[in-house]
Amino acid sequence: MPSTSDFERMLRGVALRVTRPRVAVLSAVHDQPHADTDSIIGVVRAELGGVSHQAVYDVLRALTVAGLLRRIEPPGSVARYETRVGDNHHHVVCRSCGAIADVDCAVGPAPCLTPSDDHGFAIDEAEVIYWGLCPACSSSRSS
Ligand SMILES: [Zn+2]
Ligand SMILES: [Zn+2]
Repeated sequence: MPSTSDFERMLRGVALRVTRPRVAVLSAVHDQPHADTDSIIGVVRAELGGVSHQAVYDVLRALTVAGLLRRIEPPGSVARYETRVGDNHHHVVCRSCGAIADVDCAVGPAPCLTPSDDHGFAIDEAEVIYWGLCPACSSSRSS
């Protein structure tokens, strides 16, 4: 479980100034992987009080650009954030309730997909989303 000083170290590691909103956002996303912006704002405000929506949006953008957060946006979902960055893991998404879980690369290190034809692109990421029903939704459908 990372502490405040770990989050401060992560910020300094990417040459970002340590601010309370940045630390609070990192901590909120760490505690709640795949959190959407609204729930991150809720957690940060509960902790710090008067932080504007815009301030949290700005922090999310800065942390994502710096590589401390990964932003995912499955079709039909709002943007979600996670602190598990750099391993190009995949996601499984429930078609019914939108629940999201991490799925490790199916084969080998990231990126695990080698295109049959890269069209000359220098490819650095492959994104896979598995769609289905989460256990709660599939059991409520079958009963
Ligand atoms: Zn579900
Ligand atoms: Zn994830």
